[in-house]
Amino acid sequence: MWFKKKKKTTPTVYTEEICQKCSEKKKRNFEEGDYIYRIGSNCKKCSDLTMINAIYGEYPIEKQKQSQEL
Ligand SMILES: [Zn+2]
Repeated sequence: MWFKKKKKTTPTVYTEEICQKCSEKKKRNFEEGDYIYRIGSNCKKCSDLTMINAIYGEYPIEKQKQSQEL
């Protein structure tokens, strides 16, 4: 008797940057070295510097994950 290994779903990690000036938020893929309060890229709206305000993981939307056990 053996057990099926549960599929591990790895969450995709995102980094959210927020503009200090206009509060424009930008979500992008997490890059190594990112951390909260780190200076991010330039704002696409006002070109001011953005700051990383959140790093979080999101699980991909499950594609009809129904067990097919007969
Ligand atoms: Zn801005």
